[in-house]
Amino acid sequence: MSEGDIRKLLLDKGQGLFDAPPQKPIIFTHVKAANLLLSDLERYSHAFVLACVMDRQMKAELAWLIPHRLEQKLEGFAFPKLAQLSLSDWGQLMRYPEPLHRFPDLMAENLFHAVRRLELAYGGDASRIWEGRPASATVVYRFLEFQGVGPKIATMAANILARDFKIPLSDHYSIDVSVDRHVRRVFIKLGLVPDDATDEKIIYRARSLSPEYPGLLDLPSWEIGRNWCHPHDPDCAACYMRRVCPSSVA
Ligand code: SF4
Repeated sequence: MSEGDIRKLLLDKGQGLFDAPPQKPIIFTHVKAANLLLSDLERYSHAFVLACVMDRQMKAELAWLIPHRLEQKLEGFAFPKLAQLSLSDWGQLMRYPEPLHRFPDLMAENLFHAVRRLELAYGGDASRIWEGRPASATVVYRFLEFQGVGPKIATMAANILARDFKIPLSDHYSIDVSVDRHVRRVFIKLGLVPDDATDEKIIYRARSLSPEYPGLLDLPSWEIGRNWCHPHDPDCAACYMRRVCPSSVA
């Protein structure tokens, strides 16, 4: 089996996920109310953006719960209510009675600045970040403008908008894979990169395999890593890559 076979299987899976009908709500966490809030781009597009801002240095599932937990504390999550909060209010919300994030003070600051940016640049309507069929680079850049958001989260945000929310973009060239432990492990096991590959090498490898939409490889790789390609004792017999994978033990 060749690299072409591996590429085809991953891309077919990625395209299938991209073409799938929209999920309602999208599953971000194990809490239904949190998923409903994050999926409601009509009324709470800022919840999705603020969850992206929180998605650092803690488990993603817990970070994506934060907008819902703030909503419970504030008894609502309408943007005007958030825009009234001072930096000190955000600090109180994030720190007490228990910290909502591993770094509550830093994240309180990031939330405060994110809400100010949404107000000043987008009139409080976060959906303006992606309205009008923008280029993928524009969306990624707009996420990078939020304090604390780096390329990994910015490309992840653009990928979720395109793939899961079905937001139309004029291209997908600038949506890279968001390298995490699952994506890294699967790229290595599939022989796409060497064991010591840097994040940049993995990103450029994905670009070389899928130049028009590198991020199409992201979810298939992540799912393989989470479901079958465990660091120890991979379940190759159940993995759909077993016939083409050079590391398969099935
Ligand atoms: S076949 Fe096995 S080693 Fe290869 S990607 Fe799947 S689980 Fe990992």
